Amino acid sequence: MEYRHYIGNTPVMPETGATLDVIDPSTGEAFAAIARGDAHDIERAVAAAQYAMGDALDGPWSRLSPVERSDLLFAYADAVARHADELAQLEARDTGKARKTARSDAAVLVRYLRYYAGCVDKLHGETLPYTTGFTVLTVREPIGVTGHIIPWNYPMQIFGRSVGASLAAGNACVVKPAEDASLSILRLAEIAAEAGLPAGAVNVVTGLGSEAGAALSAHPGIRHISFTGSTVTGALVAQAAAARHCPVVLELGGKSPQLVFDDADLDAALPVILNAIVQNAGQTCSAGSRLLVQRGVYEQVIERLSERFSAMRAGPPSMDLDMGPLVNAKQHARVRAFVEAAEAEGIRVAARGRIAAEASHDGFYQPAVLFRDVPPDSRLAQEEVFGPVLAAMPFDTEADAVRLANGTEYGLVAGVWTQDASRGLRLARKLQAGQVFINNYGAGGGVELPFGGVKSSGHGREKGFEALFGFTNLKTVAIRHG
Ligand code: NAP
Ligand code: MG
Repeated sequence: MEYRHYIGNTPVMPETGATLDVIDPSTGEAFAAIARGDAHDIERAVAAAQYAMGDALDGPWSRLSPVERSDLLFAYADAVARHADELAQLEARDTGKARKTARSDAAVLVRYLRYYAGCVDKLHGETLPYTTGFTVLTVREPIGVTGHIIPWNYPMQIFGRSVGASLAAGNACVVKPAEDASLSILRLAEIAAEAGLPAGAVNVVTGLGSEAGAALSAHPGIRHISFTGSTVTGALVAQAAAARHCPVVLELGGKSPQLVFDDADLDAALPVILNAIVQNAGQTCSAGSRLLVQRGVYEQVIERLSERFSAMRAGPPSMDLDMGPLVNAKQHARVRAFVEAAEAEGIRVAARGRIAAEASHDGFYQPAVLFRDVPPDSRLAQEEVFGPVLAAMPFDTEADAVRLANGTEYGLVAGVWTQDASRGLRLARKLQAGQVFINNYGAGGGVELPFGGVKSSGHGREKGFEALFGFTNLKTVAIRHG
């Protein structure tokens, strides 16, 4: 199977004719090919999106009334819901994720599309007090053509939150999926066309980040960029955008801490803590990858969590176990190197999960690993592993916990487990993070909840109503009427 770009509601051959293999992470074998896009293909996609927008918000997409746009986005959401199983199967094969995770991703995608479809006719400006004899009002206008660079870990969810919000705000989109996870995104562009979105509203150019992604970041016709991925690539994208003063929203991952106090309800906490690091084999920007436990319950937490880690099994998506393989050989090598380096440094493994006997030896499998007594300044405690690897460490006082929690360059999500409501609220203010969960954890499903980072985790907010503002220009209109 050879997939093409999807531009202007049509499959389009890459200008060069070049393709890239699509690898099944559970076997390491190629099963399809995608187009290897370059600057020419990005040019075509931007032109198609510009046509949909028109010169003065008079294009086939931009001239629709809010109600018409909302209706089309609801129709799109319904069409995606009808194709949810197919999309989940495609995603599981392409990325290796367990089918249940892919199914849940598809369901969350539908929620995003419905949420933003419902926002279209509620996005309004204000009237402002000003000098006597004036009426001043603000209107929220589309930005134009927006670029979306999507990683391989949650392609459907990230498409939903960024493309869904941008379309709702009235923009047309050019999407560059990760080369390791393009198939669901291509299908989503086709489904948009089937649902009646005009040509050019959703365009997808596949290919390498350094080629198609860089060309998208640098294209003068792109008026806003949403990027989710690594800190290093995020900086490259932001530099390219800065050259033409194009706004960027960067979501760059984290080293998110979960803080467990002596008074925590461990029965409630432990399954959530486990899930937050093994879900999607740990390839989650908001993974709870550091576990900070108060000394009084530290041994108990390690012991009980070790049992659970030992029971974790990785296997092919079709077996629907706790985890699938990692997405590609590079990530596999990277995560393995992290684990080996930590062991070589003398950091203790408390427990390790297993790889199912049925799993192919050529698949990119990594068992879950729980490390204990991890030194706070070690690489394992500071850097994003992006695998099912949890770094646990003890703390004594609340002040120590805050210092440890805030002691990395990241700040995406934090979790606090305590029965003391005052402490929970106090910590919510002190923790450097875009989201703080008290006695729960998990950013994934909350489409309504604004999400994004502080420090090196990025800037700008996605999800919720808040995200819509970023996809608009606010125009002030001052009328003097005497
Ligand atoms: P990455 O390079 O940041 O990739 C993210 C996206 O950016 C992909 O679509 C990628 O395309 C694209 N890209 C790559 N180079 C680009 C460039 N020069 N200009 C524009 N776009 C470009 O991440 P990765 O190498 O796949 O993964 C490395 C690490 O990043 C992971 O181990 C993890 O720590 C982190 N990560 C974080 C998230 C998150 O959700 N925050 C997601 C993924 C990865 P191609 O993939 O086609 O090159
Ligand atoms: Mg793949």
